[in-house]
Amino acid sequence: MGGLTRREIIQLSGGGAAAAVVGSGLLTNWWGLDANQPMDPKTDGETVVGSICELCFWKCGINVHVKGGRVTKVEGNPKHPLSRGRLCPRGVGGPGLLYDPDRLKTPLIRVSERGTQRFREATWDEALDLIAKRFKEIAATHGPESIAMFQHGFGATWFVHLMKAFGTPNLAAPSYAQCKGPRTAAFNLTTGSHLGSPESVDIANSRCLTFLGYHLGENMHNTQVQDFSTALKNGGQLVVVDPRFSIAASKARHWLPIKPGTDIALLLAWINVIIEEKLYDRDFVAKYGHGFDELKKHVADKTPEWAWTQTTIPAAKIRETARFIAGFKPASLVHPGRHVTWYGDDTQRLRAVAILNGLLGNWGRKGGFILPTNIALEKVPTPTYPKPKRAVADRPRGKVIPLASAPLAAGVRDASIPGTADYDIKAWLVYGTNLPLSLPEPQKTREALQKLEFVVAIDVLPAEIVGWADVVLPESTYLERWDDLYNPTYEQPFVALRRPAVAPMYASKPGWWIAAELGKRLGLGAYFPWKSARQYVERRAKLSGLDFEALVRDGVIVGKRQPVTVEEGVALTFDTPSKKFEFYSDDLKKAGLDPLPVYTPHPEPPEGSYRLLFGRAPQHSFGRTANNRLLAETYAENEVWINADVCRSLGIKDKQRVVLVNQDQVKSLPVRVKATERIRNDCVYMVHGFGRREKKLRQAYGKGASDSELVTRSVQDPIMGGTGMNVNFVRIERA
Ligand code: SF4
Repeated sequence: MGGLTRREIIQLSGGGAAAAVVGSGLLTNWWGLDANQPMDPKTDGETVVGSICELCFWKCGINVHVKGGRVTKVEGNPKHPLSRGRLCPRGVGGPGLLYDPDRLKTPLIRVSERGTQRFREATWDEALDLIAKRFKEIAATHGPESIAMFQHGFGATWFVHLMKAFGTPNLAAPSYAQCKGPRTAAFNLTTGSHLGSPESVDIANSRCLTFLGYHLGENMHNTQVQDFSTALKNGGQLVVVDPRFSIAASKARHWLPIKPGTDIALLLAWINVIIEEKLYDRDFVAKYGHGFDELKKHVADKTPEWAWTQTTIPAAKIRETARFIAGFKPASLVHPGRHVTWYGDDTQRLRAVAILNGLLGNWGRKGGFILPTNIALEKVPTPTYPKPKRAVADRPRGKVIPLASAPLAAGVRDASIPGTADYDIKAWLVYGTNLPLSLPEPQKTREALQKLEFVVAIDVLPAEIVGWADVVLPESTYLERWDDLYNPTYEQPFVALRRPAVAPMYASKPGWWIAAELGKRLGLGAYFPWKSARQYVERRAKLSGLDFEALVRDGVIVGKRQPVTVEEGVALTFDTPSKKFEFYSDDLKKAGLDPLPVYTPHPEPPEGSYRLLFGRAPQHSFGRTANNRLLAETYAENEVWINADVCRSLGIKDKQRVVLVNQDQVKSLPVRVKATERIRNDCVYMVHGFGRREKKLRQAYGKGASDSELVTRSVQDPIMGGTGMNVNFVRIERA
């Protein structure tokens, strides 16, 4: 078995013509699959099952090949708009999760104190009965609001339904305040649209793409990588602002190696040039803009010469790139990014990004932001959820965070440390998110876990959070289960279906079954009026007027393409207070916050320390795939990028192992050095998700270093509560 070739990965991560791969030719004995593992007797010849990938949140359509009851390979579904017959390397590696020998195989109940990792195997009845008993007891004493759920992934929908029925408002996902929440808030404030997921950007038709700290190609959003490849192939230009010479930067006409933390200064200077030189879309501004004059005044002194003193980018280069970007308007797109929680003023930075896009007049335009729709789905009727008696407990007593539009996961975690919020969280249900890695300040996560009365973890692998649980429930992987229907807004609207390719292995159970069984035991059976997830999705599809048989056959139903741009006849409307594109935000002003983005210098690393930056590798999704033996074949551990001059001055050689020590004296595991000219000398960089300390993850254990462990500080965004995490500094010591 060969796995993915190096060449394929380079093509992929380079965003080149082969932006995604077709299949892996996977053989099951490659990772030592036990020949006694269960077979599905119903599949003798090869069958192909259309479904949805879950190796990341993007949810591409997949065709799963099954022979002799085993998944032999996973390919992109050519009919599915998000995959178009191609997958990213992670998607191809799906069987590496299904056949991971370290999978959770049976329910577990803790037999010693929390955190000591001693469990006994249990039956499903025992485990579910215990959870229901403890949840009822805790709710009777402290109210149902005192039980919080943390979640990630599409399979969480069943548990969100359960916990809403139970009556808690504390349903938190790190994907909001630890990832794209500032973008949501900024674009809502400015345009009235939260951009959705997949983002409503027309990359393929863009004539100029600008990325700020966004490393598409290493960050593998399959469809966008394909579109990126198309744009470049068609002569699209690229401007990359990044302290690191990323793969995207290597394709760029302009690379601006900015000093970390100064992006707002650059954005304001670009806005200054575009306004001063009248390079903006005057029609758009006149017809749709709100507060342009205030903006003009605000940036009058934010000259490129001023920005140079902050960003280290020469003034001439700032001017040149401002003109370059504006020269392609309106098909000039400043990409809003995705993981944008950097410095705590992130909503304002994303406001500046939105404002710049507004000046380029690309809202609702080909090659800019498009205005897609979705295929509406009916709900399967269930009783109304009870109204929680108390608000979300996600912030210290009395603290106002005016524009948080979802519970803040780190705040709900903090409310689990008694006495910090309006009321204490007493129990957690954790679905598919490894909180010790996905939340900043892991010391607080540990403290909360020690204080809680009860913790349930539902997962596929023994991730670090599982070791802290009182009850562990092994969920079937996405290749073994049904889930709800998926209908995002997209230029080609569609509805997709996840269904099992093989039967659940071991004693694992699908999420829909676990949620319904817990529901029954909690007296919430009326909320689950279906015998199976298949019956549920069939009913939902039929209520929505969809051909369920076609959905099962093809894995997807694609609707008629709707107009998505002004060029195609869409009329622009803005769901903002002024009903216009808000350069100036009255809402922020009313909340006592800056109505226009303000640049504030951030603390710099002390002498001998470097800012810790982190990102993605094309083969991995967060920490979720670090144990995947197939993906490990091409990327088994991370390395720390250190500027070559810094290495020389410290007497450190390429590939040598070092330990990173942060400002709070927290030390990483030893990690290999990548000595490179491709990063500034004031920061270091590593791929997120490695440096695992959980021994049961036998593939990932001890490989590389964990950025999460070193993120012991964060700065909270005052507008929406995001946690800026690029504020940690490390020293480099020889291992
Ligand atoms: S981007 Fe890759 S991992 Fe994510 S859903 Fe698509 S194929 Fe799967």
